[in-house]
Amino acid sequence: MNDPAFASIAAKVADGVRLDEADALFLLRHPDLPAIGRLADRVRARRHPAREVTYIVDRNINYTNVCVTLCKFCAFYRRPGDAEGYDHPLEVIYEKIRETKELGGTQILLQGGHHPEYGIERYEALFRGIKDNESIHIHGLSPSEILHCGKVSKLPLADVIRRMRAAGLDSVPGGGAEILVDRVRKIISPLKTMSDEWLGVMRECHHQGLRTTATMMFGHVETLEERVEHMRRTRELQDETGGFTAFISWTFQAPHTEMTDVAMVGGFDYLRTAAVSRLYIDNIENFQASFVTQGIDVAGVALNFGMNDIGSVMIEENVVSAANCECLANIEELEKTARAAGFTPRRRNMFYDRVDEQGRVAERHHDPYWVERSGHADARPAAIEREFAALETAAG
Ligand code: SF4
Repeated sequence: MNDPAFASIAAKVADGVRLDEADALFLLRHPDLPAIGRLADRVRARRHPAREVTYIVDRNINYTNVCVTLCKFCAFYRRPGDAEGYDHPLEVIYEKIRETKELGGTQILLQGGHHPEYGIERYEALFRGIKDNESIHIHGLSPSEILHCGKVSKLPLADVIRRMRAAGLDSVPGGGAEILVDRVRKIISPLKTMSDEWLGVMRECHHQGLRTTATMMFGHVETLEERVEHMRRTRELQDETGGFTAFISWTFQAPHTEMTDVAMVGGFDYLRTAAVSRLYIDNIENFQASFVTQGIDVAGVALNFGMNDIGSVMIEENVVSAANCECLANIEELEKTARAAGFTPRRRNMFYDRVDEQGRVAERHHDPYWVERSGHADARPAAIEREFAALETAAG
């Protein structure tokens, strides 16, 4: 390929020079998809030379679908008073956790709607109840749920996060980022957090030592420039705090939403955008392939387009499947896909420590970037630290 502009970006990648926004935009418009994939794979290989693809066994527990925020892209929520609305009692949640653990699950992804009655006491009771009953990692809420809780309880953000943490919240998923550009947010979710608010919650989580992931839902009303803007803002916050453990992108699913007239993007756009995110966001370690929206085959291809993680077995998933996208996969399928792509599958926890088939920690993963940027230790929640201590004792 004789393309000096592409060659100049490839040279930057080879030399480990940071790409700028113009580079990312150029790549998003570039027709040579395999060449972009090879570049992203090169960066993946530098970061993860062991040729391992990780995944986690967890369960999405959507504690309520009652929501007052009415996002246009969402097929999951029900308005307060709707006959299809639900709010799981604690016993139902405990039972789901017990089933998860029996299958070797190590965490729950606990997310729900913006229920008008969920203030801080409700969340504290939820987290404390879970922790008193079961030893499980709570990867929970999203910036918009945290802000909603603060509004219901009339509490400042820092206090909300401190109290949630004290009650048992172990880490925060990056849900609700969609595209971090307010023009887009005002169209698809005008009642939800705007970009600065989403980033502000993540910043505060990181300041308090709480690790989070970052996400991007694309392929709806955003422009390519706005995808790059989303990546820029994510990279900037990571420069500041180092708190994101992973970047997870997926494509908008239209069925049953208020945006059925929006044409959904396909596998090529997904792969190109995922690869460009790996290339541009050079300060996040882990990038996750999305089989939930793209199917397991495209996710397998993404493993050679810069992704080093194939996500979660997800014993239960309700939000994306509400839009008719029921692409759940079991452990065998995920491992087979990783092997077919040329990688060794390894189970992990939220911190990318390797775990065994029972979910017990086996190998610690260090993240010096987080320690350097945040000033926090590379520590784990107490339950995981106890497991590591027991491992060390057993090893003599
Ligand atoms: S995406 Fe979340 S906040 Fe928006 S309507 Fe759905 S449940 Fe509510």
